[in-house]
Amino acid sequence: MPISLNIPIQSIGPIGKAIASRLKKLDLKTAEDLLWHFPFRYDDYSQLKQISQLVGGEVVTIKGKIELINNKRSKVKRTIVTEAMIADDTGSIKAVWFNQPFLTKNLKAGDEIYLSGKVDFDYYGLQFNSPEYEKVRFSETITTARLAPVYSLTSNVTQKQIRFLIKQILKLTDQVEDWLPDKVKDNLKLINISDALCQIHFPKNKGSLELARKRLKFDEHFFIQLQSQFIRLEVEQNQAQIVKFKEQETKNFVNSLPFVLTNDQKKAAWEILQDLEKDKPMNRLLEGNVGSGKTVVAAMILLNVFLNGAQSVFMAPTEILASQHFKSISELLKKNNIKICLLTRNNSLVNFSGEENPPNPPFLRKGGKSKLIKMIESGEIDIIIGTHALIQEKVNFKNLTLAIIDEQHRFGVEQRRALNKKDGLKKTMPHFLSMSATPIPRSLSLALYGDLDLSIIKEMPKDRKKVITKVVSAENREKAYQFISDQVKQGRQIFVVCPLIDPSDKLGYKSVSSEYEKLNKKIFPDLTIGLLHGRLKKDEKEKVMHDFLNNKINILVSTSVIEVGIDIPNATIMMIEGAERFGLAQLHQFRGRVGRSNHQSYCLLFTELNGQKIQERLDCLVSCNDGFELAERDLQLRGPGEVYGTRQSGMPEFKIASFSDVEIIKLAKSEAESIIREIDQHSLLKNKLEEYNGGVHLE
Ligand code: ADP
Ligand code: MG
Repeated sequence: MPISLNIPIQSIGPIGKAIASRLKKLDLKTAEDLLWHFPFRYDDYSQLKQISQLVGGEVVTIKGKIELINNKRSKVKRTIVTEAMIADDTGSIKAVWFNQPFLTKNLKAGDEIYLSGKVDFDYYGLQFNSPEYEKVRFSETITTARLAPVYSLTSNVTQKQIRFLIKQILKLTDQVEDWLPDKVKDNLKLINISDALCQIHFPKNKGSLELARKRLKFDEHFFIQLQSQFIRLEVEQNQAQIVKFKEQETKNFVNSLPFVLTNDQKKAAWEILQDLEKDKPMNRLLEGNVGSGKTVVAAMILLNVFLNGAQSVFMAPTEILASQHFKSISELLKKNNIKICLLTRNNSLVNFSGEENPPNPPFLRKGGKSKLIKMIESGEIDIIIGTHALIQEKVNFKNLTLAIIDEQHRFGVEQRRALNKKDGLKKTMPHFLSMSATPIPRSLSLALYGDLDLSIIKEMPKDRKKVITKVVSAENREKAYQFISDQVKQGRQIFVVCPLIDPSDKLGYKSVSSEYEKLNKKIFPDLTIGLLHGRLKKDEKEKVMHDFLNNKINILVSTSVIEVGIDIPNATIMMIEGAERFGLAQLHQFRGRVGRSNHQSYCLLFTELNGQKIQERLDCLVSCNDGFELAERDLQLRGPGEVYGTRQSGMPEFKIASFSDVEIIKLAKSEAESIIREIDQHSLLKNKLEEYNGGVHLE
């Protein structure tokens, strides 16, 4: 018998040994992993009936004796059929199973068994087709006569196997120490963690299942809220440098722009600037549709920090994006004699804005990285632009006052600490601003971010030409290719996005590599086609993107890696294969890659599968151009789990909770608020929160 939570699955008896390697595919390696692998639904076999009471169509359990059982070969379908007659005091019923000849080795005439499943009714009367069966021997049943757990599985593992496996280790739940303080449990009438884990797998009844779900959902929301409260506390306990609003210079900056700011841009900038005038660190998220102009807002803020004599960092998720920000921020702030640098793994460049003849493009001039780092440390550099990874590097800042992070929803505790440590001053913290183009409706922001302050840019710049969006049917594919060819002749560039890389993919979706081959060899042999996907090395990716940026590539075939932030104004067509595979918000992101210049742009959607639901969903994209509205519609159509699934960075991965647990979220927030100050008294909870924060030690 297993003894501890970390026992490997292969040591949990014969079943464990048989399926351990398959379960690795689900990332299940130890007994503890299994305990946290929750069922996604339950078969309700709890209704026990006598045979004479059975009615066709209902799902029930009977308890009876096998009168006879044998295998038959069915000539028609070349299958082996196991037939059995089961009897209780009130009558008898036939049960059949297909292609499970070993059944007659397990089950013999005279055995007492439970059968669970749907009672079928046909010409010959009532019978069970492939019911669950279980011998009457344990005090408690596992797979029949109860609410039976149904797990998400990998191939060659049966529900029965995993049910038996988990049942064997259920006792280990006693070893899970409960991190939730008694007073929280008492307040909210939550059951303890070991009971919750037992009941989530093998619930006694629906009531106890509900209690288990409530406890486990609460925990997931509680840690999000605790984390948020923890950050709030840290923010409260720290000072930040006051950044005075420089009205005249800001006006000059705004007047120098080749466009008029939208009202939402002004409002967001104003909210941020007001935060900066406080001596407490800002903790704000700026959300805005793709192309809504967040960068210019960032530039305005960076300018104000510079004018206050302080340093800022601006971080992006990729090198290409960091280079683009470097270029556009340098351009926007060029009149102000600000020293801006680009610092990424591969690149270290300085651009002295205000120079007579700034190098163009600025990132052609390389400076030594170590020299640059010294310049940052001495305060010679005002604005440091780089990748998120930048903060992991050994850079010490000088009077770091503002940190902006692009395309990420929030600063984690770890990231804050990393930036903090790298400035000598204790008890001071930079102001934090994260920016994201993922539209999170306000209704979800509490669940996701707790107390984070939000600024939202909904409005798009007025002069923007709307991207024309079309769902293209298979018969019009040739026409679409012709259209693409015409656009290229006019000098424009094209994106083609495909869902998956692997050509052996069983679902048959276009893979980038085979799509690339096809376009390159067959459809557009005279054009230059580029290929971009996540398995390319970083340098290779950079090269492809630079070539595309410089119009050396006509058509770029890519996976979803091009989704985030990149700016190629000359691209006018976004063609998406297997569009049904992507969420609306994500499709909207892709679409945002075109329509960034005066040229009319197009988004062409191709599907592999058809159907009314798919059609309806894609029609939303055709008729609507607002990321927030699309996110709301996607939420209604697919639910928050699908829309804000695991893929997007910064989103919590729920096992059981959901964004719609409105009541539980409120409770989690208020409990988190009251317990965070005394978290030191609850060491188990504190450890767990540290684990949740990626191992960051909480002081
Ligand atoms: P995002 O919010 O997606 O990061 P960007 O900041 O990259 O958007 O802005 C997209 C483009 O729109 C840039 O070329 C920028 O110069 C331009 N832009 C920003 N604000 C306005 C405005 N108010 N009017 C017109 N164009 C604008
Ligand atoms: Mg951007």
